[in-house]
Amino acid sequence: MGVILQSFGAAGEVTGSKHMLKTGGKKILVDCGMFQGRRAESDAKNREIPFDPETLDAVVLTHGHFDHCGNLPTLVKQGYTGNIYATSATRDIANLVLMDSAHIMAKDYEWLQKKDPKKAVFPPLFDERDVLAALERFVTLGFHRRFDLPAGVQAEFYNSGHILGSAFAKMGFDAPAGRREIIFTGDIGRRGMPIIPAPEPFPSADYLVCESTYGNRLHEPVNDSQRQLADVINETVKKGGKIIIPAFAIGRTQELIYFLHLLKDDNLIPDLDIFVDSPMAVNATSIFRVHPECYGEEIHRAFLDHHENPFGFSKLTYVTDAEASKKLNERKDPCIIISSSGMCEGGRILHHLKNNIGNPANTVLVVGFMAANTLGRMIADRLPVVRIFGDSYPLKSRVKILNTFSGHADYEDIRSYVKAMDLKRLKKVFLVHGETAALANLKQVLLGSGVAAVEIVEPGREYELA
Ligand SMILES: [Zn+2]
Ligand SMILES: [Zn+2]
Repeated sequence: MGVILQSFGAAGEVTGSKHMLKTGGKKILVDCGMFQGRRAESDAKNREIPFDPETLDAVVLTHGHFDHCGNLPTLVKQGYTGNIYATSATRDIANLVLMDSAHIMAKDYEWLQKKDPKKAVFPPLFDERDVLAALERFVTLGFHRRFDLPAGVQAEFYNSGHILGSAFAKMGFDAPAGRREIIFTGDIGRRGMPIIPAPEPFPSADYLVCESTYGNRLHEPVNDSQRQLADVINETVKKGGKIIIPAFAIGRTQELIYFLHLLKDDNLIPDLDIFVDSPMAVNATSIFRVHPECYGEEIHRAFLDHHENPFGFSKLTYVTDAEASKKLNERKDPCIIISSSGMCEGGRILHHLKNNIGNPANTVLVVGFMAANTLGRMIADRLPVVRIFGDSYPLKSRVKILNTFSGHADYEDIRSYVKAMDLKRLKKVFLVHGETAALANLKQVLLGSGVAAVEIVEPGREYELA
């Protein structure tokens, strides 16, 4: 039996990342993310780990986003006892994301049960104790610290420029024909984003497992995002509306806050109240403070210019208390509310959407990728009516999509990253973490750029690495 690559998630879709390297009788899993989308379908996929967790030998985690780390507690709950390797910032973020998820699942369950005790509901996948058990399995390593995995596999993290602590992982292994190297990109960022430095160049390798989120899209230039953000805010304020921004509490929220801070300093937006309604965002901001090793040049400068805190200023309020969060609904005057979850799958953003999408004066500002079948996607696609907490609400507010904030490379970025590799050595690129059209386009783009072979990974299928 040779060396096998097999994906159990984010194959032919974006969420649920789970990629396995099987070599020398050992199994190494890269990421163990949560599927997000239609409730019943994702619940079934998340509950059922498609391999025996007890027989798994190691887990390597690329970054702390929910679709990459979200189902680690289930893996441990179902018998995984090995190590979970990650950077220390990723471990801290995963802690926050998983604890928050346990909390949200418990709350949602309670709420749905109260609403309709007869209706079948989905009990939480895991609780806080399961999260703690998963956290105990973490082994943390900085970028460029080579580490040993079972079956003689050697691994190393590189900065992938996507969120704080995010990494792509290179692994060396013995194939029948000699030593080989494979890179798992995790999610790969862009050059010129605030806070996080640009992704490092991919080193030379034989195989690349590459994300494809925006495989058929081109982003507007990063340096235009501040102006576009200011325009949306000014237009909405003129109509007397509120700006509701669903955002990942970690990463995207800090970027928004940082940009709002700069816009305020330059008087480019009115003096309105800004609420970050997410208990997690407060903790996330403290994680940013203790991981200066992950900053780029720009944020170092920002810390100096703003005498310590680019994530705090006079009109900005972090809302942690649930009562204070509900009070925001009574506000009539224009304000900005940033809340999570980013894809509107749960959390306080649901209440803000419920209360605000019926008013044409308001704007829902979409700043991140919305996976298929999530509420966020339905809003981004401007469906006339959306369902929130089981009830129907007409979508009358303006919906504005600003993809300049995307933390993902577009297809030109990916083309340039891959082209910079040693293409004579690169045997094959495996495409994952994308929807059908994105995967198909990125395949053509890479083939057209001199990559020898490109494979769109099918879930469960075994690919031999020669
Ligand atoms: Zn991510
Ligand atoms: Zn992802």
